[in-house]
Amino acid sequence: MWDEVVGQERAVDLLARAVTRPVHSYLLVGPPGSGVEELARCFGAALVCAEGGCGTCSACQRALRGRHPDVVEFEPDGSVIRVEQVAEMVDAAYLAPFEAPRKVLVVHEVERLHEAAANKLLKTLEEPPPRTHFVLITGAAEELLETVVSRCQMVECKPLSSADVSAALLASGVPSEQVDGVVRLAGGRLDRARRLAGDWAPLRAAVVDAVRRLDGTGAAAAVASGEVAAAIDAALAALEAEHGRELAALEEEIAAATYSDRAAGALRRRLRERHGRIVRRAKTGVIMEVITAIESVFRDALVAPAAALDPDHPPLRLSVDACLRGIDACRHAMKPLSDRNLTVNDGLLLDRLLLNLPATSLTGLPV
Ligand SMILES: [Zn+2]
Repeated sequence: MWDEVVGQERAVDLLARAVTRPVHSYLLVGPPGSGVEELARCFGAALVCAEGGCGTCSACQRALRGRHPDVVEFEPDGSVIRVEQVAEMVDAAYLAPFEAPRKVLVVHEVERLHEAAANKLLKTLEEPPPRTHFVLITGAAEELLETVVSRCQMVECKPLSSADVSAALLASGVPSEQVDGVVRLAGGRLDRARRLAGDWAPLRAAVVDAVRRLDGTGAAAAVASGEVAAAIDAALAALEAEHGRELAALEEEIAAATYSDRAAGALRRRLRERHGRIVRRAKTGVIMEVITAIESVFRDALVAPAAALDPDHPPLRLSVDACLRGIDACRHAMKPLSDRNLTVNDGLLLDRLLLNLPATSLTGLPV
């Protein structure tokens, strides 16, 4: 089970040993894609498994898939974790476990916990009921309030090396000729690398093709928008299908188990919330991937004939000014996404970006 966490031997070792005598609260720190979420899920499974984390029993399997009634995951339901959501966490902390010897509360993106909400959580975090354990996850420990950090045992996941990401992709059957390119793009994020090698593989090519036909007219930008939107839908379709299968599996488990109506209702709601968060993140991720692909077109044109980011397309012949305008427009579009501004409208953002890009197709360029 623990081998689902790649390249984090120290953190795995520490938590696997903590299972027999866990402290109240853990803070798992690691950048997205470092395996920090898998680590939290494995630890949660180990804490509710009668064997301390066998990886194969029903408790482990359900916990690893986010469907165990005693491993409760909380996702921020907006750009901050609200006081009302903390009240829910505190209530959950005081409810007895349904079936396991322990209850585990996993809180994602805990850096979104601002002062008032954090203050409400502090007492429970410091002294939860004896069978309750908190596992807080963050990619930005420096944004956390010291009062939260000081109440937890911190476990750090380091950013993954390219070698770690390559090895994990090869081990999961990605063809070796595909691995290098994907690792170069993934920037040490195994989650991103897996998507780029899988469901998202056609996205980049589709975006680059669409952008290379811009001729400076609104009509061409509109065509490109349509093509990019279709590529995004295709990239997200597999995720939606997977979520459908998970919901069906949960219904089977509910039918087979002796969950109370309340427990079954809570499991359904939490799985829907988890899916909501995964889809939200995937949407942001896919838009960032689109913008990165667009930027690479202009970057390759700027540095040509030096080594290209995209070896599949010959660099365009554009003026330095056009390249810089293209790169600048991409950075401008990326900003609200990297600032995690959740109010941004992704569709509009891409439409506007495509409209603001310089002409790339030969028909629109002076000969
Ligand atoms: Zn087990």
